Amino acid sequence: MVHVMSRGYLSGGRLTRQTGAAPADVKGYAVTTDGAITITPVFVADLLAEGERMPVFVHVIDHPDGRVLVDTGMTELNELVMDMDPRLRPLDEQGFDLAGVDMVVNTHLHFDHCGGNHLFAGKPIYVQRQELEDARRLDDYTIREWVDAPGVEYVSVDGELELLPGVRLLPAPGHTRGIQVVVVDTGEHPTVIAGDVAVWFGQLDDPQDEGQHLVRALDPELVWLAHETEPWRPEHRRAT
Ligand SMILES: [Zn+2]
Repeated sequence: MVHVMSRGYLSGGRLTRQTGAAPADVKGYAVTTDGAITITPVFVADLLAEGERMPVFVHVIDHPDGRVLVDTGMTELNELVMDMDPRLRPLDEQGFDLAGVDMVVNTHLHFDHCGGNHLFAGKPIYVQRQELEDARRLDDYTIREWVDAPGVEYVSVDGELELLPGVRLLPAPGHTRGIQVVVVDTGEHPTVIAGDVAVWFGQLDDPQDEGQHLVRALDPELVWLAHETEPWRPEHRRAT
């Protein structure tokens, strides 16, 4: 059962990690996009995947109309995922301003993306309806008690939604049927927060599934992924 879950979690294939600083040393850093909207990655955990440590990031969007948290990481251990040896840095134990979050988006409901949802009880948590149905019904999909933790209230979304001016949710199926990305207007080209649409850069370099093709078709300035420390950029925008 644990292996089934692990494989599902890793669906999309091989994980290639850059070597370098240990994930625990990674500091979130702010990236100002157009002067008004800021996107900040926050390190919340790392996991052992195929023999290597894989970081888990969530992302904060600071918008003039509100603060949006994209995914919530993990806050506790669970026997179902102990084979991945989680090392946690939960949002509620790192000085993160929980009360300052106005709304939450779950790209999808795998355990490492929704484990902190309980910290935001009573706040709207936006997820695609398909994703919520699958998380509640399918076996070996996630840690179900983390999805429907006490007080957690979902806003089910069918398809595209403008969350705030210049911030929209877009279904990007592939990694899961109901996964969505957050597209932030940042001038000529958008910034995308893509969760696990790609687990590693190669999946955007050589897109295979619908969600990966969709992200590429947006011609983004850069793409933040949940399990990569740096953002991905299209080849024609990379420094040589
Ligand atoms: Zn996932």
